[in-house]
Amino acid sequence: MKINSNFDKLTDDYLFATINTRVQEYLSKDKNAPLFRLGIGDIIEPLQARVIQTMVNKSREMGVKESFKGYCEYSGYPFLKQKVIQYYNANNIPLDCDDVFISDGAKSQLSLLLDLFDKGISVCVPNPVYPVYVDTNVLKGNKVVYIDGNKSNNFLPIIETDINFDIIYLCNPNNPTGQVYNKAQLEHFVQYALKNECVIFYDAAYEAFIFDDEEFGTNTSGGTPRRVSEGIGQVKETTDNTSGGTLRRASEGIGQVKETTDNTSGGTPPKSIYEINGAKQCAIEICSLSKTAGFTGLRCGYTILPKQLNIGGVELHTLFKRLLALSTNGVSYISQCAAATALDEENVKQNRLRLSKILQNTKIISDALNQLGVYHCGGVCSPYVWMQTPNGVSSWEFFDLCLSYGVVLTPGCGFGTSGEGFCRLSGFAQREEILQAVKVFKKIF
Ligand code: PLP
Repeated sequence: MKINSNFDKLTDDYLFATINTRVQEYLSKDKNAPLFRLGIGDIIEPLQARVIQTMVNKSREMGVKESFKGYCEYSGYPFLKQKVIQYYNANNIPLDCDDVFISDGAKSQLSLLLDLFDKGISVCVPNPVYPVYVDTNVLKGNKVVYIDGNKSNNFLPIIETDINFDIIYLCNPNNPTGQVYNKAQLEHFVQYALKNECVIFYDAAYEAFIFDDEEFGTNTSGGTPRRVSEGIGQVKETTDNTSGGTLRRASEGIGQVKETTDNTSGGTPPKSIYEINGAKQCAIEICSLSKTAGFTGLRCGYTILPKQLNIGGVELHTLFKRLLALSTNGVSYISQCAAATALDEENVKQNRLRLSKILQNTKIISDALNQLGVYHCGGVCSPYVWMQTPNGVSSWEFFDLCLSYGVVLTPGCGFGTSGEGFCRLSGFAQREEILQAVKVFKKIF
């Protein structure tokens, strides 16, 4: 019997295991040593009380003969699909109920969707990259071609080759760089896809970090100063770069707020690929309530696959329905009810208030790095700040240096070759940890 030999081609999943080992070694020397964790990409606050209440009520319903639920429609309950549609409509994006597929989160979909295509196809992924995009394709025997992010393209690579890709992966806002493509840049990808009969896998797991201009006083658009509320009633204004197209430029001196070259296109970055004309003909959007509503442990998400997406006259939508029918019996009723509650307008607002606190964390980090003159990007529409290590030291060397002061971050090389010499800092941390980490950076640099 032959097993899938592509398993041999997967690189070891060592990143977070190695981080944990090194943290344990550090703590083994002194179990009371300070530890400030800026390395995680997981949520830090419990689920909303209303979501919990829904689960309690629905669990009871499941114990009553008249109201319990058995198998559901594998693409999800219509009541949740309607909530997803309302969520999109709030951003003026019309969706057809039939195009919404409820899932247990984004990760499983990234793997499943590849079954729509033949083995050996050519896929384009950004580098650095969320490793799942690469591993799922390696396992299928597909050809992975990288487009490199670097300082000169602001870690927002575009396609500059003649290769005809079958799939393009976009993660917007990006994990790990925290950068976000603006409308014009997304139009470039959609135009490419339409021209080359290629499908875009658009991972929108972090879309909820894109805030409207005046939402909670947090401006995320290019071309206008960013405002992040610093505390109750207080708003601090900086001339920060807030767009996907340009980096925040580090400040020249301590205490100076540095002006940045701004992005050209202005406006809030798109929250969905379907804000771009023609995207329904070429893009599949994969999204999740993991970060939007703190569902990393509960599990619920959704995939949008519009009927307009045809390849060689074949509707991918129809194939995906068939694929779901053979691979899942859907997501638990209780999770779906919880997700519907989380997507209630008032609860969405409350969740976004929580996310705005994460963005305040990234702003504290970014301001400190600006003062220190350290190159970094992201963190404006994303919980992640992507920073360059000092004096060309490797990602792991810098990790070890920071850990010796108790700061845990994620070495950029774990996200691909273009990540070497960079580190990812996560805003998913307690405010005190962020402030302490910033103090450490001020010592190190
Ligand atoms: N996509 C990206 C870019 C992520 O960073 C993550 C998780 O961190 C996921 C997808 C997985 O999300 P989910 O929890 O919905 O499976």
